[in-house]
Amino acid sequence: MDFKFTEEEEAFRRDVRSFMRSEWTLGSIDIEDPDAFAGARAFEKKMADRGWRTMHWPKEYGGQGATHMMQIIMREEMSYVGARILDGQGVHMIGPCIMVHGTEEQKKRFLPPIARCEVIWAQGFSEPNAGSDLASLQLRAVKDGDDFILNGQKTWTSAGTVGDWIHVMARTDSNAPKHRGISYFVVDMKSPGITVMPILNMAGMAGFTDTYFDNVRVPKDQMIGEENRGWYVAMTTLDFERSSISFAAESAKTLEELVKWAKETKRDGKAIIDESVARHKLAEMAIEIEVARLINYNVAYMQTKGLIPAYQASMAKTFGTELHQRLARTGMDLMGLYGGLDGKSAWAQLSGRIKYLYLWTIGETIYAGSNEIQRNIMAQRGLGLPRE
Ligand SMILES: Cc1cc2nc3c(=O)[nH]c(=O)nc-3n(C[C@H](O)[C@H](O)[C@H](O)COP(=O)(O)OP(=O)(O)OC[C@H]3O[C@@H](n4cnc5c(N)ncnc54)[C@H](O)[C@@H]3O)c2cc1C
Repeated sequence: MDFKFTEEEEAFRRDVRSFMRSEWTLGSIDIEDPDAFAGARAFEKKMADRGWRTMHWPKEYGGQGATHMMQIIMREEMSYVGARILDGQGVHMIGPCIMVHGTEEQKKRFLPPIARCEVIWAQGFSEPNAGSDLASLQLRAVKDGDDFILNGQKTWTSAGTVGDWIHVMARTDSNAPKHRGISYFVVDMKSPGITVMPILNMAGMAGFTDTYFDNVRVPKDQMIGEENRGWYVAMTTLDFERSSISFAAESAKTLEELVKWAKETKRDGKAIIDESVARHKLAEMAIEIEVARLINYNVAYMQTKGLIPAYQASMAKTFGTELHQRLARTGMDLMGLYGGLDGKSAWAQLSGRIKYLYLWTIGETIYAGSNEIQRNIMAQRGLGLPRE
């Protein structure tokens, strides 16, 4: 096997790498912190100015029509430094979805502001009783003249506190079979009747919200696709879910930091890196990170060749997120009681980053389709096993 990148791809990687390493100066972002939020948006704007933020979009919509390989290089370099796009929903999900299912008018209205980095989108899919079984959702949309009136609750809305717009699945026909009575809307978060209640995540950040709709009036030209066909629109959106290379790239950076820390930190008079258990654990992580990268490169390679990674994308998500958890646990094990200290403590190791990672990575095996659901996909589509 020869996994060499082309000269053009290598040159692009050098360019992106130097940009990321000089322009991204933030640590992890708490979107509730106004300075961190402004810094992250300024960084995103610089990416947009270079055409990199929507590089995978067709040129006519403000993109560069970049290949999957170019995208994976971009994401790998971005994730390595810990950089984030705050409007990931706009750039990677609802934007591409509008390109496929939107009217010409919707494309003209919604795509340019995403490409120019002027808006942030939130996603309103999950409800208290509809997560993995998303088609059971109950938020209602009832027609009233030229509008629909929305009532109900969404939950786990990432970017709920900072979002300008939200893309929402709502039930428009309660009598139809559950997948066939759903429509897809885009809604201005400033619409009267929308209330957001922040939810603190395990890492102590207000990462998402409960989002309530109380008689929210939505013009019918904000429905994406046909009435009662929203399930199929949503499936397109979910197909555009972000690549899993970020888990491998972030892990590679964290591993480098852990190795450096283990070399510089002594326990019982000897450097931690000289303890055989520590060496073995770190070496195991290095192997797994390489495996994760290759699984992701394979997905990008298949997409470049026009093949559909029917179960390979699930493998990438499952392996990448569980690797990220294993790495955080390895770090906590090596640090012992110091690992649990917050970054503010004088005794914190690596500024408390491992503790944060330990808490944050729990959610990674849940969002974007839990890993149990990903395993069902691998069992059925990869191994050809029957549905339960
Ligand atoms: C960090 C984070 C960010 C999120 N952001 C958003 C967002 O922006 N917008 C949004 O709409 N949602 C968001 N979510 C919600 C996410 O999509 C749901 O949490 C996820 O789909 C699981 O749904 P649930 O929490 O209702 O769990 P459930 O579906 O109730 O699952 C509970 C457990 O049962 C397992 N399970 C369920 N069904 C099966 C099955 N058929 N076979 C095997 N096991 C099964 C699950 O794997 C899980 O372990 C986010 C979640 C997290 C953690």
